[in-house]
Amino acid sequence: MDEQKKMAQIPESVANVVADGDAILVLSGFSGSPETPIGLRVSTHALSLASPAFKNTFATATPPTNADGGAAQPTIVNLLDEDADAIYILVNILHLRNDKLPAHLPPSGLRRLAILAQKYACVVAAGRATVHWFDRLYFNTSTTTNSAEIWSMIEAAYLFDEATFFARFTTSWIFKQSLHTKQIPLATTAETQKLALMLAERQSQAQILLRRDIDMLADSCAFTFSKDKVHYIDYAPGLSPDPDEGRQAVTCPVDSEGAKEYLGALRDAKIWPSLVWGDYKPRSSNSALQDLTISDVVERVKAFREPEYDDCDKCEFCEDVRLTFIETLQSKREEQEKRLWGLCLDCFKAGMAKGSGECRVEHAKGAL
Ligand SMILES: [Zn+2]
Ligand SMILES: [Zn+2]
Repeated sequence: MDEQKKMAQIPESVANVVADGDAILVLSGFSGSPETPIGLRVSTHALSLASPAFKNTFATATPPTNADGGAAQPTIVNLLDEDADAIYILVNILHLRNDKLPAHLPPSGLRRLAILAQKYACVVAAGRATVHWFDRLYFNTSTTTNSAEIWSMIEAAYLFDEATFFARFTTSWIFKQSLHTKQIPLATTAETQKLALMLAERQSQAQILLRRDIDMLADSCAFTFSKDKVHYIDYAPGLSPDPDEGRQAVTCPVDSEGAKEYLGALRDAKIWPSLVWGDYKPRSSNSALQDLTISDVVERVKAFREPEYDDCDKCEFCEDVRLTFIETLQSKREEQEKRLWGLCLDCFKAGMAKGSGECRVEHAKGAL
């Protein structure tokens, strides 16, 4: 069998990528016909221009024998061990045969293509043609897209150096993760091993950030319950009404009533305390209930409507709990909206958080 392979024969079925191509790539394992070797007629010139690796391959290939004095024979290159489907797409891209490209590539297909483009050192030449596939995957990403698929897209975006899609897909991945556990995606190439670890790390950071946001919301209410904020109406905390004035000492209820109102609303909206993230059941309990995800809680904060609380009775020693709460809520919402929950490709590659404006994706400083 090995001998046969080395003899480099032209397979019975040959598809022309270019009709006058001077080489035939021999492949097998096409998803349509896995058993049959199929030849692809290509131009060594086109492939060598785009890829130094192809150039090398052609340089070491057996030159065509022209013993019978007939027409020049094509160079035959055995690529039986390669990913045939991905090679087919890659060589069509490199020959600018856009008409041969599929309208849609699944996440795993795009990743296989990216791995091959890396191997043949033609990421830049092949990258531009992939943008519409990335685009389509992004717009078709929904709640039913699973984490493994998103991870395939992340690896593809990383290998193709697509900064925008990388930030988007890493964010989608983080949003889908549990609020309670840490998951490390399974890297399919040596290059993405470190990325998998970094993404899991980012997930832990996102959990912490989210919990901190919610703590700050609750804190904006809780301070009014402290002993040194309790005050009588129109008297500063720590002061009692003068008995000579003959007034009844009444504790001012405005702040604490408001705070109770807001905390109750947070609890009803299942935002705070973490005990009300009720859908959570650890996986080991074999329950059908899903882990609550980071995105579930972000959505709850987004959808939260603060209750109407009329604080017109407040005295000059009230702490204005209404304003404090509403401002905190707004600023947390804005932060969550702007926050890069996923990763920045440029920062990741540099191994450090770069300054704002230095990266292709806009993000706050220190996002990594
Ligand atoms: Zn007051
Ligand atoms: Zn960055």
